[in-house]
Amino acid sequence: MRNNLYFLVVGVVLATSAGATISATNAQPLETRVATASSLGQKALNDPAAFDFVESLTTEIGQRLAGTEAHKRAVAWAEAKLKAAGFENVHSEPFNLRAWIRGAESADIVGSVPQHLAVTTLGGSVATDANGVEAEIAVFRTYDELLAAAPGSLNGKIAVVTQRMVRVQDGSGYGAASRIRRSGPSEAAKRGAVAYLLRSLGTDNHRLPHTGALDYQEGAPQIPAAALSVPDAEQLERLAARGPVRIRLLLTPTVKENAASWNVVGEIKGAERPDETVLIGGHLDSWDLGTGATDDGAGVAIAFGAARLIAALPQRPGRTIRVVLFGAEEMDFSGAAYAQAHEGEAGNIVVAAEADFGARNVLSVQLPPGAAGSDFARALQQTIAPLGAIFDSRPALFGGDDVRGLQKAGVPVAALRQDGLDYFDTHHTADDTLDKIDPKQLDQAVAVWSVFTYLAAASDVDFRNLAPPPK
Ligand SMILES: [Zn+2]
Repeated sequence: MRNNLYFLVVGVVLATSAGATISATNAQPLETRVATASSLGQKALNDPAAFDFVESLTTEIGQRLAGTEAHKRAVAWAEAKLKAAGFENVHSEPFNLRAWIRGAESADIVGSVPQHLAVTTLGGSVATDANGVEAEIAVFRTYDELLAAAPGSLNGKIAVVTQRMVRVQDGSGYGAASRIRRSGPSEAAKRGAVAYLLRSLGTDNHRLPHTGALDYQEGAPQIPAAALSVPDAEQLERLAARGPVRIRLLLTPTVKENAASWNVVGEIKGAERPDETVLIGGHLDSWDLGTGATDDGAGVAIAFGAARLIAALPQRPGRTIRVVLFGAEEMDFSGAAYAQAHEGEAGNIVVAAEADFGARNVLSVQLPPGAAGSDFARALQQTIAPLGAIFDSRPALFGGDDVRGLQKAGVPVAALRQDGLDYFDTHHTADDTLDKIDPKQLDQAVAVWSVFTYLAAASDVDFRNLAPPPK
């Protein structure tokens, strides 16, 4: 908020010098740019570069949890790939993070019917004692039932929440359920629980648990927390209905304070107004269980593939295209680090968007508030329709976790929304591997991203000026 005045001043300058929409002041007429965008989209449908990028990343690097040696190798790999593809100003911007490293993890039902359970530790969880923690479980079929439990009612118990995640194409089922993983451990601890288990936030029925980060609340005891695979959560529901169940849980993660990560950057410099930047990206880090193919090898491949096609055009767009491969999205560090490092530059970032929703085709595109009905929106609509995507006139409220910090600093964001119907079947599991990517669908996503990115970079559109004035 303290930057409001700054952006107001910059906004006025941009509005005066650049105009409000795609305009005749641009070097090329609108029809030429629309034609260029259309041919870019068609070219992308048969360009193997994005798939090759994610194939190389997942094969030669594999998992790349932020703060690990593997992620460091991925950063060097990414710099080399960007340079080889002709990107300019390729560099890596360092930042510190508190790295969390998975250890041994197991859960067993103890007593007269001993059984092994498939679990995985939540990112950020504290460890159990070296011998594990053993306690009776208290099962809650919904998260609200846990929240309704009285303080002290879970003393000495392991709280288990088995609420189902709903399969929704746009990912809203995950959004609705994320508090169960993020906040559940602290809510259970406040009621006396000694450990926390949740049914994985996933839409599959495989015995592969889904990891993901938790957020401990200040003032609440920090208790160990893990996700059960979906079949194991259902097994516990049935067993608990038959009588008391005791579980022994062993989790031994460790933490590296002040570990290093990097946001990797490459640019296609603008031909006319290089200081104005269209920022697109994905996150290079991944969870450690699979090879991070759909989350988010696909996303970095999409941003790379789209920008690379634009770089190969005979005439470059007026504005700079900056590709950022963020370095610690899963543990929530890279977006804030980027926004902080680029605080003074936010006024020059025309629009920002992150691809972080898998490898399937883009179904719809949302632009910043006020853009519906603009020349820019019409040009976009016209060029993405043949690719099988629609312009969604609702304003983009979210452009990806890693551009949220920029958005807070006043940068307009766009949302290129992919088909996520099966994304949460393998999300954050050992099953997030290359074979889940359909190259044809990935190519369509690259096509829509290349069209959007090109049109934004080749125009004078000023999304800040299109938006209704702040109250
Ligand atoms: Zn992601």
